[in-house]
Amino acid sequence: MTTLKGKVAVVTGSTSGIGLGIARSLAGAGADLMLNGFGDPAAIEALRKELATQFKVRVGYDGADLSKPAEVRSLIAHAAAELGGVDILVNNAGIQHVAPVDEFPDDRWDAVIAINLSADFHAIKAALPQMKKRGWGRIINIASAHGLVASTNKVAYVTAKHGVVGMTKVVALETAGTAITCNAICPGWVLTPLVQKQIDDLARREKLAAAEAKRRLLAEKQPSGEFVTTEQIGALALYLCSEAAAQIRGAALSIDGGWTAQ
Ligand code: NAD
Repeated sequence: MTTLKGKVAVVTGSTSGIGLGIARSLAGAGADLMLNGFGDPAAIEALRKELATQFKVRVGYDGADLSKPAEVRSLIAHAAAELGGVDILVNNAGIQHVAPVDEFPDDRWDAVIAINLSADFHAIKAALPQMKKRGWGRIINIASAHGLVASTNKVAYVTAKHGVVGMTKVVALETAGTAITCNAICPGWVLTPLVQKQIDDLARREKLAAAEAKRRLLAEKQPSGEFVTTEQIGALALYLCSEAAAQIRGAALSIDGGWTAQ
């Protein structure tokens, strides 16, 4: 079993969905955590305490808005100051906006690129010197099936996620001679608030019951007909932190129910 005792993990966007699944998985292996993301302050504090108690690890929280490079840098600095140097960085926070390219709002383009792509660069740039000093590191970028193939009406998201896959390869090459690895995880549909919104929009648009909207969403892209779970992605992230994964470098690992096999 992988032990991460004594390691410090920063997981961006870990107040919800996939990031929270990954945070639970890493804390379950003994990593101290710096949580990040938006939400009700009382609920976030309750989550912080719950994780610390359940897994007997140190858990901090930083509410950095990752659309702002200075706040990304301060998140990494905060983790180092409160928990020690950053050993594991999971760039997970992300948003979606759906519209045809000629109607796509400029401010949504800027926000998706800032949070889903540029934040990963700023976090890696800030954390890498600490990993180099400590002689070990794991960088995991949560891309998407949309980092490998495209869909209509998601120009900013698909652009950002393809960029994340490219960034992952560059960082993996630049760290290839070290014990620091950098990889991307490319999930298909996962039933999180980000996807629930798209299901609700589909149900409204096509006048469908919720269960039928879910079935249609899956049927369009995901041959398994089942959602990927946050636990499955957490387990994959934990595997990438293990010594068994030390030579997985610059990979874009699909976990997508067959989406990109088509
Ligand atoms: P989610 O909406 O459940 O969670 C997103 C998290 O990011 C939340 O904690 C939110 O507070 C945080 N966040 C959003 N904007 C932020 C900002 N400006 N600064 C800091 N934190 C911010 O979404 P999710 O589905 O868990 O998505 C997580 C990642 O997985 C995203 O990068 C997403 O693109 C990717 N992904 C999701 C799916 C899916 O089907 N759900 C599929 C492939 C990839």
